[in-house]
Amino acid sequence: MRTSAPRLAWADVPTDASHPQHPVPATPPTGYGRFAPSPSGDFHLGNLRTALLAWLFARSTGRGFLMRIEDLDRVKAGAAERQLDDLAAIGLDWDPPVVKQSERLPHYEQATDRLTTAGLTYECFCTRKEIQQAATAPHGPMGAYPGTCRDLTDAERAQRRAAGRPAALRLRAAVTDFEITDELHGRYRGAVDDLVLRRGDGTPAYNLAVVVDDADQGVDQVVRGDDLLSSTPRQAYLATLLGLPVPQYAHVPLVLNTSGQRLAKRDGAVTLRDRLALGETPEYVLGLLTTSLGLPEVTDPAQLTGHFHPENLPREPWTLDPDGLSQTR
Ligand code: GLU
Repeated sequence: MRTSAPRLAWADVPTDASHPQHPVPATPPTGYGRFAPSPSGDFHLGNLRTALLAWLFARSTGRGFLMRIEDLDRVKAGAAERQLDDLAAIGLDWDPPVVKQSERLPHYEQATDRLTTAGLTYECFCTRKEIQQAATAPHGPMGAYPGTCRDLTDAERAQRRAAGRPAALRLRAAVTDFEITDELHGRYRGAVDDLVLRRGDGTPAYNLAVVVDDADQGVDQVVRGDDLLSSTPRQAYLATLLGLPVPQYAHVPLVLNTSGQRLAKRDGAVTLRDRLALGETPEYVLGLLTTSLGLPEVTDPAQLTGHFHPENLPREPWTLDPDGLSQTR
């Protein structure tokens, strides 16, 4: 078990002048929660609600709260800054520094190297199409990588390399499923396959980066949307293989549109900026989010930290009709 402290000592933490919010607590936090957005565009109310929950879980348990920009792909210029501004506008704060995955590439490479040294990786030359067309592995979970490249001979590998196929690096998983415990879902067992660790273009895969980052940052509490629950057994298994602690998990319900699909920008005035343009205030939007969670309508999330009980959270998604929002005032 890795027990070392996060890389950044609490005493060294500079104040973040751009987003001054709540006073820095006198005692060091007991661990960290985090929010890890992909900077692909402005947040909608669903993203903000998940961020608020991650903040509440962390702050109500005396944890620090970190922000990590997952910019290994799907990056839109300026989006990360706008996202942070939106979080600050609804009263969320975080402990610096803001970490960007694009600045941490050597850490992911080191982790894959460790797995490779332990004989736990292999090169995969399959195209996406080939994987889709291949049948699922006989005893593997649905949609799992069928293992086409798992046992290639050296000669076969050399042949594929010579043909110029870029190789992804996959985990040689010794299990087909793994169990995790989630604060809202209880015990959850889900599929583990030979997941990609490094893509053919050299980019570290999300499942690897998230595991390495959470451990390096001292994150012991992961709160995120429940669309990611099915990836979690893979991540917990990977953490275990790397000798890293498995964090506590809470996968929270998503926000849906009136057709029952995950909320998206095309559903209307769903971003904070859309709502402000309609004349609503950030405090009003915060109130919408807190009441959707069965919490009191407050103007500052800090008013909730003493009264946050995860066991009382709604377990169902929140269905949002953006056109009806202002009328509910
Ligand atoms: N970057 C991921 C997303 O925006 C979240 C990853 C995580 O929280 O582990 O969906």
